[in-house]
Amino acid sequence: METKLFKSEHDIPAAAEILRQGGLLGIPTETVYGLGANALDEEAVKGIFEAKGRPQDNPLILHIPHVDWLERYCENVPKEAYLLAEKFWPGPLTMILPKKDIVPLRTTGGLSTVGVRMPDHRLTLEIIRQADVPVAAPSGNTSGRPSPTKAEHMLEDMQGKIHGIFDGGACRVGVESTIVDLTVTPPRLLRPGGLSLEDLQSVLGEIVVDKAVTEKMKEGEKPRAPGMKYRHYAPKAPVTVVCGEPNKTAEYIREHLQKGNGVICFTEFAPLFEGYATQILGEVSNKHQQAQRVFDALRAFDSLPVTAIYAQCPDTEGLGLAVSNRLKKAAGFCVVEV
Ligand code: AMP
Ligand code: MG
Repeated sequence: METKLFKSEHDIPAAAEILRQGGLLGIPTETVYGLGANALDEEAVKGIFEAKGRPQDNPLILHIPHVDWLERYCENVPKEAYLLAEKFWPGPLTMILPKKDIVPLRTTGGLSTVGVRMPDHRLTLEIIRQADVPVAAPSGNTSGRPSPTKAEHMLEDMQGKIHGIFDGGACRVGVESTIVDLTVTPPRLLRPGGLSLEDLQSVLGEIVVDKAVTEKMKEGEKPRAPGMKYRHYAPKAPVTVVCGEPNKTAEYIREHLQKGNGVICFTEFAPLFEGYATQILGEVSNKHQQAQRVFDALRAFDSLPVTAIYAQCPDTEGLGLAVSNRLKKAAGFCVVEV
């Protein structure tokens, strides 16, 4: 199939038509590019799983253009959901709520709950409005690879497999949405993302951070969300994440680095790794920059002949929790503390 590339406002009706017709569309969001289809159309949703090579039990997130749509797809919406929507939507926050029957089990990976969010991207909100259907969209990468933050990254993975991609520029946030489960008390953080845990706590108070955020799942352990058990974000070469004070992590990497290895490091430490394939994560204190860069850095190594990758890990404050989670998952939790 030919993958059409859309770029201008004038293309919005054509892009919306793809969704209405049950097709697959790459959509820009503030977090990462998504692979969208009509969430209520089982055949269309099946296409998402096939194009990505995604396991059937890994649920999708519904993207809606207005908070009023929540009641169409969710049952027993608690007042906290509206408080959160008022404060953080449109934005990088996904809420897990009980689903209504209209949402197919294929979309939710067989679960009786559904994840919903309103993305903060003008073009995509307009596309969804014109399509007039909720859009199921996981990240637009091949399953297991780093998420795409630019249209060309998504094309690398999806060219010929989907009907179109809307190029809305580079993603402003760069990591996926924060996922909070509101069907349990206290609410549970299932995935750290573009909205910080601290921001969520300011509205919800106590939040349990799921173990899978910081630790590798053990053999036979049942995850809260099916997606948690799968390999994620990984470049082809094995990754070791080094956590600790930045001077110390840089020193550790310098001592262990071998010819042919690659490095993901903070801007300030790049001169130490001259002569090695290096990707800059961003300045030590600039977590926004690190979030924007983390997937690009991981993806860049796939076109470089590196045999192993060492990465400096940020602390877990603010967006650091999401950045360190993506690095650790890319590393299959091969983590060194120094
Ligand atoms: P992706 O956008 O590729 O990161 O995939 C969507 C993420 O949302 C996956 O990690 C899913 O496990 C998670 N997710 C979606 N719906 C649910 C749900 N109903 N319960 C728990 N997690 C969910
Ligand atoms: Mg994904």
